[in-house]
Amino acid sequence: MTLLAPVNKIIPFSNVDGPSNRTAIFFQGCCFNCLFCHNPETINMCISCGDCVKTCPVQALSFNEQGKVVWDSNKCVQCDTCIKTCQHNSSPKIKWMSVDEVVQEVKRTAPYIEGITTSGGECTLWNDFLIELYKEVKLLGKTCLIDSNGSFDFEKDPRILEVSDGVMLDVKAVGEKWNNYLIGYDRTMILKNLEYLLKVDKLYEVRTIIFPNRDKENEKTVRYVSNIIKDKCFYKIIRYRPFGVREEYQEALGDFTTDEDYAQKYVELAHSLGATKAYII
Ligand code: SF4
Ligand code: SF4
Repeated sequence: MTLLAPVNKIIPFSNVDGPSNRTAIFFQGCCFNCLFCHNPETINMCISCGDCVKTCPVQALSFNEQGKVVWDSNKCVQCDTCIKTCQHNSSPKIKWMSVDEVVQEVKRTAPYIEGITTSGGECTLWNDFLIELYKEVKLLGKTCLIDSNGSFDFEKDPRILEVSDGVMLDVKAVGEKWNNYLIGYDRTMILKNLEYLLKVDKLYEVRTIIFPNRDKENEKTVRYVSNIIKDKCFYKIIRYRPFGVREEYQEALGDFTTDEDYAQKYVELAHSLGATKAYII
């Protein structure tokens, strides 16, 4: 049976999804519900409620014979009215693609990229698909990076690591209460992955968001991560930005970007603890 996975979008050339120029492939579906998510429409699978069918201004959405909402990319004018309409943190604009179809897209950009990054949503929900995709992309001489929320048990099923070049791992919060509030998911597996991926030399980068006015929690996370990774991988310290964050959560987290000087303090803290590859964006 042909393996299929729901692709939310493919960015042919990205310079923010890992080193150098990469094709970034975003899959639909995530097991977290991060309050600060910039793409909440990637969290859930569409339940075909039909709300967006009514609001699409160009009739690019319709029901098929099975009662599923289908998207006509030729008619779509990318106005995102459907995304704004959806109350389920979903999007009707996904394509169920085979490995071969994704590889064909990668082949178009192959001469100009160093590799691919799979992201989401949470791409490891489609682990078997990724393994086959990476095998094919490797044949093109390209690198494969996994952008992950850390929920997948890489130690229990390391097959994907064997065909990939590394993981870019989000460690959003170490304080238990703060973590549970922020992402709605237990952090045990994330912290286990942090140590395991480092041990097997597959941790390319860790990412932590610095929230405004959350000194204690920011410091706890940066200290914890820095003490573990030291200089063995990159540490991306990300300033919280409200753009794309759901309005109700902007009230709780802040409707302004974390001040650069404030975030820079945490880069310096990381450096002082030996995480010399920490940097700010
Ligand atoms: S973005 Fe959504 S609402 Fe807008 S034209 Fe495309 S399918 Fe319709
Ligand atoms: S994308 Fe959202 S609004 Fe549209 S049919 Fe699916 S669940 Fe309903």
